[in-house]
Amino acid sequence: MVQTYTLRIKNGTRHVKQYRIWLWWKKYTCIKRANGRVYYEKKECSRREKNHMQRFSRRKGLTFEAVPTQYTRSNSYRSQFFACHPSATGKYRCAYCGKKKPKDKITIDHIFPVHCMEKYPAVRKRAALFGIHGSNDMKNLCTACMRCNQKKEAKMGIWILKGFLGKQPWYWPLRRILTVILVFFVLYLGRKIYMPVVCNWINTLQK
Ligand SMILES: [Zn+2]
Repeated sequence: MVQTYTLRIKNGTRHVKQYRIWLWWKKYTCIKRANGRVYYEKKECSRREKNHMQRFSRRKGLTFEAVPTQYTRSNSYRSQFFACHPSATGKYRCAYCGKKKPKDKITIDHIFPVHCMEKYPAVRKRAALFGIHGSNDMKNLCTACMRCNQKKEAKMGIWILKGFLGKQPWYWPLRRILTVILVFFVLYLGRKIYMPVVCNWINTLQK
């Protein structure tokens, strides 16, 4: 497979908007950021185009960024996920909290966040250990309720483990069984250890 890149041209010493007509002509999309600034992006570019735009940006005093396309967010990962994981009941379980939600209330989360995969080669290497070679890889996607998705944001650490475990169909029933066993065990211990202590205490009070 030929490697393609997502190219981003941002403000540098000069403002990227000065070149908007030229970038529009080259089929770049203008993307507005939350802080009101804009940058221009084009997906699926060849290595030749990448090198050309890199030289152009350096010459014009703009900031240039190239990310292998497979690590950037695709437009179709949500529909692809639902096509691969159809649900008979129409509900999906959040991998992070275990709650079941209807399809329109569930989001598809990238377990290794797209932002980290784009920015840090070390994260890509770590993801490759799990057999993940792209942000939109099915192995890197899980269902999440809106609340958990907002809480997770671009966090890693324990959230990665939670995501991988929570998306396994056996995880939540097993967790429930283990919780019941644990509760019974604690009750049994309580009866065995604390009951004689409590009885002794009551006896001493009665005397
Ligand atoms: Zn949740």
